[in-house]
Amino acid sequence: MATKHNNKQTGRLSFFQVPANILAMETTDTAPRSRVGGWRGHPNSIATLHKYRVSLASPALRRCVRCRQVAMRGIALCRVHDTRKRQDTPGRMARRVLAQMDRRGLLPAELVNTPGWRDMAPVAWGTRDRLRLALVLAWDSRDSEPLAWARAWRAAREAVRGV
Ligand SMILES: [Zn+2]
Repeated sequence: MATKHNNKQTGRLSFFQVPANILAMETTDTAPRSRVGGWRGHPNSIATLHKYRVSLASPALRRCVRCRQVAMRGIALCRVHDTRKRQDTPGRMARRVLAQMDRRGLLPAELVNTPGWRDMAPVAWGTRDRLRLALVLAWDSRDSEPLAWARAWRAAREAVRGV
């Protein structure tokens, strides 16, 4: 019922109404399409997001006791003020090291600009950053230790193919 929640006085859409242009979108096309070039999801997923969306200003949401941001599930603190120790994983450590190297300008531009590096973008970051760090570490000695370099490169290519 697209018009059920219409506000007749203002003509504006109510908070939970799915806009008519989204309801009218073609929903019979189920053929697989390329994921390259932006979002190609099903229109129904937009309609569902509209249906269940909640305003961040909603008074129903619990608030952080320190800063009044939205609190995380099960605790009275937001992401910033939750100081519980997060478990360190190889992916997180690699991500941190890569970010530090990036800030210091230590990532080799020749490597970062290769298509192979960019192709790793859709890989989950926990895996991707470990493989990228291995590439960075093998980069300088790629002439003296070509097998180690080939191994790191092959692992990166296999991760991309596995997506
Ligand atoms: Zn907070």
